[in-house]
Amino acid sequence: YAEAMYRSLLLAVSRGSAVRRAVTGLPVARRVVDRFVAGEHAEDALAVTRRLTSAGLAVTIDHLGEHAADAAAAARTAKAYLVLLDMLAPLGLGERAEASVKLSALGQTLGPDGEAVALGHARQICAAARAAGAAVTLDMEDHTTVDSTLRVLRRLRADFPETGVAIQSRLLRSEADCRDLAREGARVRLVKGAYAEPPSVAHQSRSAVDRAYVRCLRTLMEGNGYPMVATHDDRLIAVAAALAARAGRGRDGYELQMLYGVRPARQRVLAHAGHTVRVYLPYGADWYDYFARRLAERPANLAFFLRSLTSV
Ligand code: FAD
Repeated sequence: YAEAMYRSLLLAVSRGSAVRRAVTGLPVARRVVDRFVAGEHAEDALAVTRRLTSAGLAVTIDHLGEHAADAAAAARTAKAYLVLLDMLAPLGLGERAEASVKLSALGQTLGPDGEAVALGHARQICAAARAAGAAVTLDMEDHTTVDSTLRVLRRLRADFPETGVAIQSRLLRSEADCRDLAREGARVRLVKGAYAEPPSVAHQSRSAVDRAYVRCLRTLMEGNGYPMVATHDDRLIAVAAALAARAGRGRDGYELQMLYGVRPARQRVLAHAGHTVRVYLPYGADWYDYFARRLAERPANLAFFLRSLTSV
């Protein structure tokens, strides 16, 4: 439970506007953030994409930002994706590059029409992704957004069945969601979950989250869809490989995913061993919330950040 407390505390502190101002104002923060973020512009994301794909990795590119403040902000985010995908198309990377999208950045939480607004933007992004030979995966945000995100996913999949979604093993509902999505044949990115969630909806201990992850994995591997195993946890990666083999899936029947800047050497080793390894690659100016979650999920990341502050 110390783990859950650390996560909740850090996420709570980081949400304070004074802390946000202090951290984003630090010149040194930029260097530390660069470990986890490709840069501010689409060109930066494409340069890193070229580097990673020539090293045998696949990518899923995320334009940073969440909870659009208004309809104009949501439209700007959608536009940023369309520009990115237009620039990606000529690289001819096909399935080796895809896009990750947060529906809250597309307006999902903007009142009663928010979901429809986000769906409209997401449709355009899916169409642009398809034109680039790529797919879209919907990120999963906190538990209050899950029903809405799954509704949008199902609407999108009617026209773009290649669209995927992230499911968080931390949430109590996720085993049932995995069963439904596995039956429907969806691409599912299984993660532990990066948000602090209350006991009424989520497992609290690390071991309970891990055990739920294994149960979800088994369901996905035995189902009709395409499992995307997103974790840096070697034990769970080994379990995934064993469950895939038992379900008769070859190396092309599932993939591994990790975050940019987290265990980069391990990413290459797994790719050289013949796995499809996809790196989640964020870019954009709005890096603060993403960065705060990376600090919250791993005390070593916070230590790294603090060390860099004292070493200037
Ligand atoms: P952890 O429990 O954090 O770590 C498990 C073990 O992995 C550690 O004990 C250690 O052995 C090893 N490890 C971890 N980091 C390191 C390191 N830096 N160096 C060495 N060993 C390390 N969350 C969401 O809520 N929604 C999303 O849509 C979402 N998308 C994601 C997409 C991808 C591709 C990935 C990788 C994660 C995503 N996440 C998402 C975040 C996820 O929920 C977790 O918060 C995050 O991945 C950390 O959990 P973990 O599975 O890596 O395991």
